[in-house]
Amino acid sequence: MKGVRRVIVSRSLEEARRIVAAWRERGLLVGFVPTMGYLHEGHLALLRMARRECDRVAASIFVNPLQFGPGEDYLRYPRDEERDLGLAREAGVDLVFLPPAEEMYPPGFSTYIEVEGLSAPLCGRFRPGHFRGVATVVAKLFLLFLPQRAYFGEKDAQQLLIVRRLVRDLGLPVEVVGHPTVREPDGLALSSRNSYLSPREREAALCLWRALQAGRKLLEQGERRVSEIAQAMEKVIRAEPLARLEYAECVTLPGLEVPERAEGRILLAVAARVGPARLIDNLPLEVTPEGVATASV
Ligand code: AMP
Repeated sequence: MKGVRRVIVSRSLEEARRIVAAWRERGLLVGFVPTMGYLHEGHLALLRMARRECDRVAASIFVNPLQFGPGEDYLRYPRDEERDLGLAREAGVDLVFLPPAEEMYPPGFSTYIEVEGLSAPLCGRFRPGHFRGVATVVAKLFLLFLPQRAYFGEKDAQQLLIVRRLVRDLGLPVEVVGHPTVREPDGLALSSRNSYLSPREREAALCLWRALQAGRKLLEQGERRVSEIAQAMEKVIRAEPLARLEYAECVTLPGLEVPERAEGRILLAVAARVGPARLIDNLPLEVTPEGVATASV
């Protein structure tokens, strides 16, 4: 019966593995959505996409300690298990995997996945070890569930590209599907970390989206020099007193390299601290002699 699906909640790696393996053995198409919880419309868009495309949907909610650096927000990362389970149920999720950290990283854990190159620029410069933590947990979850499809948001474009490379390099039988960034009506990208923002900071956080728009506008006016585009984006963020710029860049897709001229598929990417929150945003574009169009990561 539609609408009254039961959601299975599992905290055990072995149990979750068995449940998903049984689905696969029955020939069902399994979609997987990894998250850190505190679900919002961005996560729900991924879950609904998986629900539409797959026979069974597994989601994980795991605040992954490996991807947080010392002094980052691991301990205060927002958590609300009850609410998340309600939302996952409404989105039609079949299994929510909620492992305790010891279940994922037993004592003596010492095996890591490193995706070289793509992990170095952008957020990699400011969060050493972050993408190693991401790649390790994603690889572990993929091997656990062996889903035919896995869904990731373009909001974390660098992460999506790293996961695609990881899957290709290791030959994992998983199709990685991207979903466009879900935004508030005023343009702010949804993020669990937006909950850290005061009303004033929430206003200030819009400078990321304004910076991306400024970059796009320059491109639309015919500017192709990447240095000019990056500077224009930087200027918008620097003009916001409550924001501290980390980076504002125009890089190639999918390689994340800094070209001299913005041509073909590019990514405008920004990061800034606003109050207690570190926020990122990006805009994938296709730049041709004819003009500028929204692209996907
Ligand atoms: P997180 O819980 O922040 O690790 O995010 C889990 C997944 O949701 C990742 O694939 C994110 O890229 C994706 N996601 C987070 N925010 C958004 C958003 N605003 N739009 C689309 N996807 C998102």
